[in-house]
Amino acid sequence: MTTAPVPESRVYRHLKCGGDTIVNGDAFESMSNPFANMSRTWCTTCNGFYRVAEYEWSDTGEKLTDYYARHGTGATSFQRFVCSRSVGIIGMIIGLVLGLVAGNYLLLNQPQGMRFLFTLFGGFVGVLIVVMSQAELQKLIARRVCGVRDTRLLT
Ligand SMILES: [Zn+2]
Repeated sequence: MTTAPVPESRVYRHLKCGGDTIVNGDAFESMSNPFANMSRTWCTTCNGFYRVAEYEWSDTGEKLTDYYARHGTGATSFQRFVCSRSVGIIGMIIGLVLGLVAGNYLLLNQPQGMRFLFTLFGGFVGVLIVVMSQAELQKLIARRVCGVRDTRLLT
């Protein structure tokens, strides 16, 4: 593993307009991760979201979809499954239901209005927990498969 500092940003190019967009922070972390299921991203020139297949990294000229395929190669089918969008969606539904039930039962003897709000809040928390857990798993699996401590180090 390299000890090089984690880059803060990277530039990608929209093939259609040739415009460059700088990505940094959490967005860069997700975008650099081949297991994060990025589907669309922003172009500052066109002021819109487009499919990742329409972009390349400006520094290497590699299409984002090729980059994801290349770095994702070493994953097992189980690792791919855990990171997949279907698991994310099913997980969110389960999280929502469990959260709604928990929120509803926690305030069983409280006034209806308060119970209703708490039920909604429970559902929201349930979904949030699932989304955050899958994001962490995607990072963990990417680090293991790609052999880096941060996917922003990948080129
Ligand atoms: Zn563009």
